[in-house]
Amino acid sequence: MMPLNVQLWKRFPSPSSILLPYFQEGSCTPYTPGNETCALGNQVSYAINSTGKGALGLWTHNLKSIDFITQYQGLNYSGSAVRLGAGVQAFEAYAAASAAGLIILGGWCPTVGITGGFVAGGGHGPLTSTLGLAADNVLEMEVVTADGQLRTLSPTENSDLFWAIRGGGGGTFGVTISVTAKVFPDRRIGAANFQLLASAQTEEEAFWDAVDEFHSQLPTWVDQGGFAAFILTQQLLYARPLTFPGKSQADVEQLLAPLSDWLDARNITYSLTITEASGLLQHVGSVEPLPYGEDAAGQVTGGRFIPRQTLENNRDSVLSAARSILQDPDFRILGTGMKATTDLSGLPAGDNAIPPAWREAILGYEITAGWNYTAPFAENALLQQRMTTEAVPALEQVTPGSGAYLNEANFQQPDWQHAFYGSNYARLLQIKQKYDPESLFYAATAVGSEAWEVADDGRLCRAQRRGY
Ligand SMILES: Cc1cc2nc3c(=O)[nH]c(=O)nc-3n(C[C@H](O)[C@H](O)[C@H](O)COP(=O)(O)OP(=O)(O)OC[C@H]3O[C@@H](n4cnc5c(N)ncnc54)[C@H](O)[C@@H]3O)c2cc1C
Repeated sequence: MMPLNVQLWKRFPSPSSILLPYFQEGSCTPYTPGNETCALGNQVSYAINSTGKGALGLWTHNLKSIDFITQYQGLNYSGSAVRLGAGVQAFEAYAAASAAGLIILGGWCPTVGITGGFVAGGGHGPLTSTLGLAADNVLEMEVVTADGQLRTLSPTENSDLFWAIRGGGGGTFGVTISVTAKVFPDRRIGAANFQLLASAQTEEEAFWDAVDEFHSQLPTWVDQGGFAAFILTQQLLYARPLTFPGKSQADVEQLLAPLSDWLDARNITYSLTITEASGLLQHVGSVEPLPYGEDAAGQVTGGRFIPRQTLENNRDSVLSAARSILQDPDFRILGTGMKATTDLSGLPAGDNAIPPAWREAILGYEITAGWNYTAPFAENALLQQRMTTEAVPALEQVTPGSGAYLNEANFQQPDWQHAFYGSNYARLLQIKQKYDPESLFYAATAVGSEAWEVADDGRLCRAQRRGY
């Protein structure tokens, strides 16, 4: 595989950009000289976001409308809402909402779109433990289904598809054109940046004891509406930030006092900075410089939800699993401590396809590794293999029956139907077959992807034609 030109391939404003280098069809890129032959497929002759021959990518970045609705009237909700076009990214939504004194539920990275894969996968962010998941706050959607029909989805129209597409994953039920979602009054946001270095401690175990204590505080924090985003490596625990919507600086000082008291009593060295922002845009901007932020995508990924019950009753097992994964210096863990229960949004339980494992979780552990752009493809592929056979299984062992967030997981996840969709899978598959009987839409671990088979040479074939 030819080395990638990172500068060219990491630009989201270009329809030829790709996120994960694993999936680049490396033999023929838009930059391959026209007189060279391709090992697979043909020269790319169209400028769309597709890396496979015969695939069609849809460029949503011209669908940028953001329309606020003062009094939306729906079956289960009346109040303020916003209708977002399919191409709206978080930095645009946050800025427009802030100017109107409102907040919209998006993710951390300002460039991640809101209406596509984010909402379809569930969508967590700084407001999750306060207002629920993004998918829990969607009121209505416009979607083009495989038969070419533009359909409105809501609790009263195409309600089965509306259920499925909020949590059942992007790219498989139809093409989302717009999402109408609840908006809320903007509010102050208290936050803390916390850093702990193994090298700063006199004993190695002190670092891990402190990580364990940090874990032990998560239930209290999320019950107070907090969202804990953190990085964990063998050497570092860096929470940047702990977010407490609606809380003041003094509130956060109080919430963090049990942790700092515990650390002080043991002479453990750490740094803690507590701040207060006037609103969501200001808070996100203090973490991710706007408009684009600096958060890079994990290029080799895997993940697992840690149930609240496991963290509360068997915290040692979570720490041991994390330590064993991080013994491999290629891996790091991105933690998302949150509560994603339906009471936060007032959604009736089971009213969308968010998997039960997420409702029961208190923590998402995403394991990531970087891609070495100067190493051969096979070397990087081995890393993804270790993710599949070693890293993720270490977490699975201590969280039997749980699952993983499909947007922050391993595309090679065995038993992905259960891991990503849980007990919703059978119903999701029925809905997929109803609206897309020919399986026009495909993604590797999306609902219904069993209808296709990736052949050894990388081509996608109908499973039944290959005797499956
Ligand atoms: C830097 C970074 C930070 C992230 N931070 C967060 C976070 O804070 N919280 C969180 O929950 N997730 C986060 N994610 C994960 C994110 O939710 C997923 O990457 C999600 O799939 C992004 O959706 P997208 O539409 O922008 O992406 P794409 O890569 O364009 O799409 C992902 C999937 O959705 C489908 N899709 C996209 N648009 C549409 C559409 N209009 N209609 C139908 N299907 C569509 C695609 O076909 C594909 O299958 C982050 C990802 C990155 C790279």
